Amino acid sequence: MEKILSDFLEMVRADAISFDERKVADIVKVKLAELGCVDIYEDDAGAKVGGNTGNVFARYPGTLPGSILFSAHMDRMPQGFGIEPVIENGVISTRGDTILAADDLGGVAAILDGIRKLKESGKPHCTVEILLTICEEKGLLGSLHFDYSGVQSKIAYALDSPGHIGRILIASPHSAKLQCEVFGKAAHAGSEPEKGKSAAVGAARILADLREGRLDHESTANFPIVQAGHGATNAVCDYAVIKGEARSIDKQKLLDYIDYFEKHCMEKAAGFGVTAKVEWTMGSPGYSVPKDSAAVRLISAVFDQMGVTPLPEASGGGMDANRYNYNGMQSVGLATGYFDNHTTNEHVFLDSFLRTGEMVCRTVLEYTAHPEIYNV
Ligand SMILES: [Zn+2]
Repeated sequence: MEKILSDFLEMVRADAISFDERKVADIVKVKLAELGCVDIYEDDAGAKVGGNTGNVFARYPGTLPGSILFSAHMDRMPQGFGIEPVIENGVISTRGDTILAADDLGGVAAILDGIRKLKESGKPHCTVEILLTICEEKGLLGSLHFDYSGVQSKIAYALDSPGHIGRILIASPHSAKLQCEVFGKAAHAGSEPEKGKSAAVGAARILADLREGRLDHESTANFPIVQAGHGATNAVCDYAVIKGEARSIDKQKLLDYIDYFEKHCMEKAAGFGVTAKVEWTMGSPGYSVPKDSAAVRLISAVFDQMGVTPLPEASGGGMDANRYNYNGMQSVGLATGYFDNHTTNEHVFLDSFLRTGEMVCRTVLEYTAHPEIYNV
């Protein structure tokens, strides 16, 4: 069995979840040391977020100048205990009662395999930095609490995206949580309803023609939570709340939408004779890395060498690459062959996955050979 596959199976069988990545971290630290990595340390991010494990950082030292960072996350979604991987017809899946945790132990195994292949190649190379995070699935908490001041790399690849090898996530949206509270007037529903004003109806009027769903090719909004009243039918409703989110690759479009949302809510509420109060908070920062950037050109050159078609696309969600860009690195997400992540249908195509170590190794060698053309 290929080492990348046995590493992967060993890690998915080690029970873990966000805030408890201990077993995976312990396995990974041993493997990194065996491969010859140095500066291996686990930071104190776990304590900061209420977990029992920190982010694991390591360096695979090179003799040539430059450094490049590869990242994956060690936590996984719930339903990830007792995973029994099933390999059949070139696909790894589960028995259907758990996730597979290829999101993102596939990424971790790929990085380990890349280092192994680099070592076996015997070729001189630059330094490789490895960052394996915790609590990615809990709002990128591990990468939020990592101290980037010691990182040398200017380019970072997050091996954490669904899809076949070749898919490059060049953008990820900025996001915000939005809510509108609606205040009406209570009255007895049977004896004097004309003295009341229904906040529930006010909320319905707000939602009726609110722009939401797909706003444009890079922006979305969704308001799935609507609550009203106090559980009784014999009073006119005096309170309702609408909760949702908006996202856009373009930060200005997101801010414009928030403005629109606030105006829309205020106007519709006033028009119906109730009042509204809008509040919002920004989520993790988005990013957009140009197709002609060093990070995209480098990985595209590697895919060309491998006979893989590069597929640069925008992501609908967030990942650690969001924080790496925010912290001054140029970072994109890379697919490692998994599909239907976050479900018990999660599966991995071996033909993609088994080449991800090669992808990592070739990226280091290509960068080492031409540092001047991949200058950030
Ligand atoms: Zn992930």
